[in-house]
Amino acid sequence: MKKLSRRSFSGIAAKGILGTTLLSNMPLAKAFTTKSMNKKLGIALVGLGSYSEHQLAPSLLETEHCYLAGIVTGTKEKEGIWKEKYNLSKKNIYNYDNFDIIAKNDDIDIVYVALPNSMHVDFCIRAAKAGKHVICEKPMAVSVEECDAIINACKENNVKLGVGYRMQSDPYTNEVKKYVKEKTFGDVLFVSSDAGYVSNGNPYQWRLNKSLSGGGALMNMGVYAIQTSIYGTGQNPISVSAQEFSTRPDYFKDTDETITAQFKFANGAVAHMMTSHNANGNRLKCHCSNGWFELDPAHSYGPISGRTSNGDTIEFPFKRQQALQMDDFAKHVLLDTKNIAPGEMGKRDMIIVEAIYKSIAEGGKEQALSLGDLGIVS
Ligand code: NAD
Repeated sequence: MKKLSRRSFSGIAAKGILGTTLLSNMPLAKAFTTKSMNKKLGIALVGLGSYSEHQLAPSLLETEHCYLAGIVTGTKEKEGIWKEKYNLSKKNIYNYDNFDIIAKNDDIDIVYVALPNSMHVDFCIRAAKAGKHVICEKPMAVSVEECDAIINACKENNVKLGVGYRMQSDPYTNEVKKYVKEKTFGDVLFVSSDAGYVSNGNPYQWRLNKSLSGGGALMNMGVYAIQTSIYGTGQNPISVSAQEFSTRPDYFKDTDETITAQFKFANGAVAHMMTSHNANGNRLKCHCSNGWFELDPAHSYGPISGRTSNGDTIEFPFKRQQALQMDDFAKHVLLDTKNIAPGEMGKRDMIIVEAIYKSIAEGGKEQALSLGDLGIVS
């Protein structure tokens, strides 16, 4: 029997041939399934900033189906520090200029892009062209056009694409989705969600620089409130109206400070979201025909906390969301399981972001959205 390399195996799985051909031959399928479950995929982190250092790399010590195999950094001093700390092979260390030769490195299966938002598109496309599966941090890019470019590059190069939406792998989020789907508290009528923090740091940080961030609170934290509005109702909105508030224009010179938005849904449900770089917010509350449920905090790194109108608390054992997220993506690559945070979800959220900015520019005018089920994973 011809032995399949890891790469050809992933390629077959990516094409869906695993499901149709291999699974019809049970002993062979079992052999491949066992092999792939035992195999850990190598991840290379691109951009060794705060998120990679404090969340992604430590989480990769807890993952079952992937591990930290390499790094791509623009800061020479970080190479030796990370090599030593994570016992990395020298050949798996790249900089932004020589990154493309990663194509020849079989240790790296997945490239995880954790750079400032406006750099996602370039590095995701380069990773896809190098034949690597891609995880792109949120927000996926700074425009719908860029999201399309990433999605197309991954399709053309036959690699899988996931967005760094860690909450999609979180058990609390999935409990909420279950309540919505099973109508545990009746129909969801109104959703309220907040996602913000107070920014007081370096006024020259990239998050406050539109050319690097694409926008302010909305791009950074707003995507969480957009996501909660959608999984809190179980559907995409059909319209949005939005307002912007500026109280510290000297600090927020280039990017939005606080934004509120209201969504309408086809079944009559309504949602209100607030996102801010000048106020704390970390909450989801769903008001239903027979009670309510809420998460507060709703989207921090955990532990998340939840309650319902029955007097119950929602509780799950703590596990790093990023470990769950990267394992979910690795299983998607290895076993063709569902992609729970696909590129289309990132693009859908960017369509909403653009509609919110348009509504603000037009004095709060309601913007129709024709999203269908784009980005809905059930
Ligand atoms: P950070 O500022 O801590 O790190 C940014 C990294 O990019 C640094 O290593 C820096 O050297 C590098 N870089 C390269 N070119 C740069 C430039 N021109 N300007 C500034 N930095 C440059 O940022 P972070 O918090 O690690 O965020 C990185 C990405 O991860 C962002 O897209 C952010 O939205 C995302 N993020 C996601 C989560 C989440 O919970 N999913 C949390 C934090 C950050």
